[in-house]
Order: sequence, then structure tokens, then C-alpha cells
Amino acid sequence: MHRFHNPYGQYGPTSADRFEFTEDAKRVRKYLYEYFLAHGMSPDLATILEDLQLDQEQTWEALHQLERANFVVFVPGTEDILKVPPFSAVPNRHTVTAEDGRKWYAGCAGEATTLNAFLPEVRVTIRSTCPDCWQPVVFEARDRELLSVHPEDAVVHIGTHPKDFRNDWIVTCDSINFFCSPEHVAEWEDAVPERKGVMFPIRMGMKWTEGTARVRLDYDRPANQYVPGAMEKSLQALGANISAWQ
Ligand SMILES: [Zn+2]
Repeated sequence: MHRFHNPYGQYGPTSADRFEFTEDAKRVRKYLYEYFLAHGMSPDLATILEDLQLDQEQTWEALHQLERANFVVFVPGTEDILKVPPFSAVPNRHTVTAEDGRKWYAGCAGEATTLNAFLPEVRVTIRSTCPDCWQPVVFEARDRELLSVHPEDAVVHIGTHPKDFRNDWIVTCDSINFFCSPEHVAEWEDAVPERKGVMFPIRMGMKWTEGTARVRLDYDRPANQYVPGAMEKSLQALGANISAWQ
């Protein structure tokens, strides 16, 4: 029996240091992506053990490494997989559908723009809803190219300051959404002032996540590490107004 690393409901540190994964962790990570791609949902622990022929301790250690790197998100303090970014195990407002009909839930608006990195040369349709009016926001992409956006004014909105992302990934992901227009962002921010943040067109959203999308299939890359100010700089370089964070 292994020990739990965090009390129930509490996040431990994630993306804190850049470490190399063990071979087991790399195998589990690849397996999780492949399982989501095939089934549209997360495997349970027993299935991981059986399919990879790992024991309980090996599986838990691998998952714990992946959690520390933010490549897996548990329901805090449990062993239940909530997300394997860009995939969400829980239905939410962001769906990604491939041409062959396979469908996934993406963890947030940003992850919805990177999921197609797993589907080279496939046209994918991303459907979400505006948190303000619940009307659809729909766009299509192939590889890193945006093919259509409806409505035309739709934007990505980030309602958590990047320095607070790691405090609670459930809150962070829930606050990264597509809105039908800048006007609806303003209306929603009036109603939820603690989520006031930064917005930019979906086209820029594809560029924002370009780096993440590019390395998705690199199983040898080390853990993600939070670098203070990096996201603010990259959004500014793309032309986004980040005054809400300054
Ligand atoms: Zn709206």
C-alpha cells in the first residue's frame, strides 16, 4: 500500500521542477494518451496495471511523477484521473470531434486548441459554449491551421493569473474559456469580477498553444516547469493586451 501524497481536496506542488521521467512514467503517459484517443475516456487504475503489466507501486509512482509534471490531474487527494491534458475525463463545455466521429472533452479552451496535435492532417471541429450566454462557439482546425470560426468575434479568455495556475488546476482550467464576443467577456467579468483576465482572438489562441502542441508527442521530454512571467511575455509578444495582469 502506498501513501497518498496530498490530503483530500488539496493540490500538491506541480510544475515546480524540471525532472526526467522514469521509463515506467513515460510508458504510462503514452498509454494514457493512446487510451484517450481510442476510447474518449480515461482508463481506471486496474486497467492500467493489467495492460502495462505493472504492479500497484510502479503504477502509483509513475502516475505521481506525471501528476507532479501536470501531465495528469487527479481529483485532489485521490487516485481518480480527472485530466490527462489536453484530455478531460469529465464532460465539460469543450468538445473536439475528428472527421471519423471520435469525440473528446478538452481540459480547457487552450487544451481544445492543442488536442489536434494528436491527429495530424485530420480536420477537427471544436465546439464550446460561451460562459456568458451559453451560445455555441465553433471552429475547425487542421494541424495548426484555423479553417473557420463561428461567431467571427469569438475569443479565448483566461480568468486566472498565470502565477496562480498551479494553486488549483480545476479552478484554472475552468477559467480558460471561449466567449462568443469581447462584449460577452465584459458582461461576464462584471458578474464574476474575481475572474477578470486577458482575452484574445481564437486565431491568436492557436498561436498561444503552438509550443505545447508541438511537443505533445515527445515522450522523452522532461516535466513541465513553471517559469514566472513566461506566459505573460509570450501573450504580449503575440499582441494580446495583458493589462489586467499588471
Ligand atoms: Zn456569449
